[in-house]
Amino acid sequence: MHVDGGCHCGHIAYQAEIDPERVVVCHCTDCQILSGSAFRVVAFTQEDAFSVTRGMPATYVKIAESGRAREQGFCANCGTQLYATASGPGPKVYGLRVGTIHQRDLLKPARQVWNRSRQGWVDDLHDLPAVDGQP
Ligand SMILES: [Zn+2]
Ligand SMILES: [Zn+2]
Repeated sequence: MHVDGGCHCGHIAYQAEIDPERVVVCHCTDCQILSGSAFRVVAFTQEDAFSVTRGMPATYVKIAESGRAREQGFCANCGTQLYATASGPGPKVYGLRVGTIHQRDLLKPARQVWNRSRQGWVDDLHDLPAVDGQP
């Protein structure tokens, strides 16, 4: 599936081919901290199927629990997180942050990972009062 996306301020744009059947929710604690939220939603693409079409992402390298260095690409102007990938030589897999993909409404997660650090209230969201905009 062809997708495109970018950061909130518009400095960075990208396009990619992704597999819409392999979208995952990640409940790991790094995703919680880096996103400032309860989990991240990720769609995967290959290095040769991903291109930044405007701007240059800044990078932050974290060390994963596996010991591997993981490069986090983000917009240095607005802070939007765009992807994570391996540090060093390719071929690489890029995990795109689904919230930055314009076609995100079509991308329903198929799997959850790092369930052991999942926030206990996530399953209860449908029981909470909800309004369509800012109350
Ligand atoms: Zn930006
Ligand atoms: Zn994660």
